Amino acid sequence: YSLHRLKDKGIFSIKRDSINQAGSVNIIVFDKTGTLTHGSFTIQVVHPVGVKEEKFLEYIYAAESLSTHPIGKAICHGKNLKKVASEQKNFLEIPGVGVETNWKKNKILAGNSKLMSKFNIEIEEPKEIGTAIHCAVNGKYIGYIVLSDIIKEDAQPMVDLLHSEKVEIILLTGDHEENTKDICNKLKIDRWHSELLPEQKTDILVQEMENTDKAVAFIGDGINDAPSIIRSDIGIAMGGIGSDIAVENADIVIMNDDPAKVYDAMRIAKMARNTSIFNIAFALFIKIGVTIAAITLEIIGAEPLPMWVAVLADTGLTVVLVINSLILLYRKVRIKKI
Ligand code: ADP
Ligand code: MG
Repeated sequence: YSLHRLKDKGIFSIKRDSINQAGSVNIIVFDKTGTLTHGSFTIQVVHPVGVKEEKFLEYIYAAESLSTHPIGKAICHGKNLKKVASEQKNFLEIPGVGVETNWKKNKILAGNSKLMSKFNIEIEEPKEIGTAIHCAVNGKYIGYIVLSDIIKEDAQPMVDLLHSEKVEIILLTGDHEENTKDICNKLKIDRWHSELLPEQKTDILVQEMENTDKAVAFIGDGINDAPSIIRSDIGIAMGGIGSDIAVENADIVIMNDDPAKVYDAMRIAKMARNTSIFNIAFALFIKIGVTIAAITLEIIGAEPLPMWVAVLADTGLTVVLVINSLILLYRKVRIKKI
C-alpha cells in the first residue's frame, strides 16, 4: 500500500527491502548542486585582471567550450562555440576542480582556487558571494567570474520538516567554503563540508556512518554521486536530472526532483514500518494470549474456550490487521504544516 502511495506523491519508487531502514533514518547527507539547488547557474560578475574583458571572456569560453559540467555549460550558455571547441587540444575536465586545455598554443586553466593553487597561481579573492571560477593563461592569472545558483523552493520546507522529525542534515559540496556557509546558514543546515573532491564525499559519508549506529541516508543528483548512493544505508537519487547509474542503484528515486519529497518518503516508510511492527506484535499478543488461556483452562479442568474464540483469534484477527494496513492509504503524510 505504501508503494502505491509513493507513486501518487510523485516519488517514483522505493525498494521494498528498504522500507524498514528508510523508516529509521536519523542522518541525511545531501549533495548541494542539483539536489538542494537547481544546478542552473547564472553569471553574476565578470572580473578580468590585467586583460580586457573581451580577451578574458574569449579564454574562459574556449576553456569551457567542451565542458559537460553545469558550471561550464552556464558560462557558455547561448554562445556559438562550435569552432572554438574543435580547436581545443588535450582538453581535460578534472572532477571537483575545473578544466585544463590547450588552445592556439596557450595553456588555459579554468576552475576553483584548488585548481589554481595546484599550478601555483596566485588569485584575487572575489568579494561577491557565489561560485567563483578563476582563469589563468600560460601560468598568468587573468581574473574570475562569479556564478550563482538558485536554491530550490522546497529546500527550506524540507529542512524544517526533517528537523521536526529530529533528523540531522549534513551538506557535502565541491563548492568553496564562503558560498556553502551562506547557503547553509540561510537554510539552517546542521553541518557541512565544502571544497570536497567527488571521492572525498564518499569518505566523509563513510565516516559519518561509522560514527553512528543509526541509519544514514545520502541524496544526490547522480553526477559523481553514484558511489555515495551505493555506500549509504539508504541511497536517494533525484530521478529527473540524475544519471542512470545513480537511479539504478538508489533505494528511493525522487522523480520530480523536489527535495521535500524526501520527507514524504521517510514518513511513509516510517508509517509502513510502524504499522507492520504493530501488526506483528498485536497478532503475537492475541495468539499467545488465547493459547495460554486454552492451556490454563485445560489444566485446571474448566470448560474449554468456545469455537468462536478460535475463529476470532484467527480469521477475525487477520481482518483487523488488513484493515489496519489499509488505513495507511488514508493517513496524512504531512501532519505538521510548514
Ligand atoms: P558539487 O559538489 O557542488 O556538486 P562538483 O563536485 O561538481 O560540485 O564541482 C565542484 C567545484 O569544481 C565547482 O564548484 C567548481 O568550482 C569546480 N568545477 C567543476 N567543473 C568545473 C568546470 N567545468 N569549470 C570550472 N569549474 C569547475
Ligand atoms: Mg553535484
